[in-house]
Amino acid sequence: MSARFWISNGLGETVDEPSPERMRSFLAALDPRDEEHGAAWLQTADDEEVTLEWSVDGRLVLDDHGRVRHLPAVSQERVVELWCALVRGGRAAVLAAPWREGNGFVQTAEQRAEMERWQRDEDRAFYDALGAERSDVPCRRERCGRGAIAHSVLCRAHHFESVWGRPYPFSY
Ligand SMILES: [Zn+2]
Repeated sequence: MSARFWISNGLGETVDEPSPERMRSFLAALDPRDEEHGAAWLQTADDEEVTLEWSVDGRLVLDDHGRVRHLPAVSQERVVELWCALVRGGRAAVLAAPWREGNGFVQTAEQRAEMERWQRDEDRAFYDALGAERSDVPCRRERCGRGAIAHSVLCRAHHFESVWGRPYPFSY
């Protein structure tokens, strides 16, 4: 028998027909620092085109056949209530909430700066792990003049660019 409803998260985990208790623990297990995977949503077999997705930043997003609306600053307990309402009464049961248009995602300047810092650290760690450039094997890129790293025909900067598809962000 297939499930009447299920919850999933950004890590690919799914629980069929969870109790409210299980919903609570599923939400509580999300990593609040993991904005990429820190989300969980519920779907029902009656209407898979309706999802209620909560993110660790507190937004609950209703995707109702492609029309996206959200509630900001939703507690996990309120998520469980609305999930249960959707399971019991279908989309009509959740439409009464004061939804706002759009998914509500706003990145503050601080979050953007934080992301950029994180990216720079990742880039530097990747670059540092590439190891030394060989003095006897020139980088294959024209007019580069640097040496190729071990296991590559490219220098560190050109290897970085070929892996990540964007210019190497540092000056060394
Ligand atoms: Zn090079």
